[in-house]
Amino acid sequence: MLSFFGGTPSGNVDKSKYEHLTMSIRQTVLERARRRCQQCSVKFSPSVHPGFEHINGSLKDNRPNNLRALCPKCFKLIEKKENRKGMVGNIRYALGRMIK
Ligand SMILES: [Zn+2]
Repeated sequence: MLSFFGGTPSGNVDKSKYEHLTMSIRQTVLERARRRCQQCSVKFSPSVHPGFEHINGSLKDNRPNNLRALCPKCFKLIEKKENRKGMVGNIRYALGRMIK
């Protein structure tokens, strides 16, 4: 159960591949979320653009497992957190804590 966030070093994963939030990663996350906000379940549409939260706080970790698709409203709520994460994210990550 600890797979991605636990002790397993991602030796077999090309990390640089996930340094940027690419279209295909977005697509994967959106499809997994069934094109709905993972917080309030509102459906994404041309007028409701999804935002992407980094669960472990590392902005350079864009693996689909580390991303949550959120509607603008929910994203706004976590945006502050997300900005703060940029600074404390690495510490959090080092501690191996999972932020839900
Ligand atoms: Zn929402």
